[in-house]
Amino acid sequence: MSPSSPSRMHRGLLASTALLLAPLGCVTSSQAGAARDEAALRTDEPPRVKPKWGLVIHGGAGVISRENLTLEREAAMRAALTQALLAGHAVLAKGGRSMDAVTAAIRVMEDSPYFNAGKGAVFNHDGVNELDAAVMDGKTRMAGSVAGVHHIQNPIDLARLVMEKSPHVMMVGDGAEAFAQSQGMPLVDAKYFFTEERWQGLQRALEQERAKGAPPAEQGQPSTQGLTPAQPGPPTTPAQPSTQGLPPASAPQPGQPATPAQPGPPATPVQQSGPAQPPTQGATPAQPVTPAQPQPGSSLTPGVDPITGDHKFGTVGAVALDMDGNLAAGTSTGGMTNKRFGRVGDAPIIGAGTYADERCAVSATGHGEFFIRYTVARDICARVEYQDLPLPEAANYVVNDVLVKAGGEGGVIAMDRQGHVAMPFNSSGMYRGYIGEDGTPTVAIFQQP
Ligand code: ASP
Repeated sequence: MSPSSPSRMHRGLLASTALLLAPLGCVTSSQAGAARDEAALRTDEPPRVKPKWGLVIHGGAGVISRENLTLEREAAMRAALTQALLAGHAVLAKGGRSMDAVTAAIRVMEDSPYFNAGKGAVFNHDGVNELDAAVMDGKTRMAGSVAGVHHIQNPIDLARLVMEKSPHVMMVGDGAEAFAQSQGMPLVDAKYFFTEERWQGLQRALEQERAKGAPPAEQGQPSTQGLTPAQPGPPTTPAQPSTQGLPPASAPQPGQPATPAQPGPPATPVQQSGPAQPPTQGATPAQPVTPAQPQPGSSLTPGVDPITGDHKFGTVGAVALDMDGNLAAGTSTGGMTNKRFGRVGDAPIIGAGTYADERCAVSATGHGEFFIRYTVARDICARVEYQDLPLPEAANYVVNDVLVKAGGEGGVIAMDRQGHVAMPFNSSGMYRGYIGEDGTPTVAIFQQP
């Protein structure tokens, strides 16, 4: 049976998302509105319509359980996703570019403490926030990405600056921040990214490691040489959002080393947690996949939400198709809780967590090491291009077959140039949303309506 056969999709088990786009009312925080949206973005039906233009967003995948999510929190997250959709729609409705819609939507989610990007970024093992982001323009195949930045309030904007104002595709750490300053982008104090919830999430992840008595990490310890500290951990004074540049004493100048975060205390033992289990059904003989085994990257954990106890990746992303038929994709993240200093995930890797060309755009969320090794975003678009697969089928196959058998948890959002949409994920939930020409935002979280 070919990978493209619908019967391979295990519809009841897996999470191929589709848009039913029955007439939907506006998203409200009410349970009725939420239930309607969940049904509209359910995961086991094919798309019924293809809008001429639109925007799809995600706010991370993972173990997201209804019983753990309070109504207040759920409403707040739906509201943030709705706001992001409306921001992108405002651009597209005016005839704006898909790239502008993508960055507008992502900026809203970066500014929200609920998502693991920008303000709500998770902490690394050393108690420092290290941010990654990327954009790609499908029409031109221009791309920009940044990784390991510590003082950029909206990393998606810096990724775009790299694309538009530098001859490069990817810039990291100090160099990326120096470039930001050279372009007039202010740096923010690292304290801007502190949230108590993320800090507690790291403490919980560290406790879990210690409880399991795992041996110390093999990863190299961060060098302290030449570092100007942005102190890890909770600030001694309450964190204040800052839109200002760093104080002159600590602000890097273009061409000078910027101020990377200072490494924290010695590494604590690292848990080698097992990857997601593959399904017992649906193996594809043609696909040589090794059953899930402990992977080198599996010491990383999805963000542990200290409020809900759920584990989730909280990366944000957007893909858009504009009136001119051009696609764009963008992704922004704090990475994974407890990641090692200097670790870079899939979000800023073009072709792994972010990709767009003239026929397909993808943004991913999940365990980045798998998305990098399986070049997930490009793989989906390559299947559309080379195999002529419908986008939802290609996306579903990569997420729910290739990735699942490899042990890689997560999901993607994707659009093609005809406006078809896919949102497959192989975890229990993915914060996601869609808005098309009619301007009706639709937001969903769970796998089952
Ligand atoms: N994919 C991101 C990473 O591995 C994590 C996430 O999706 O939240 O860095």
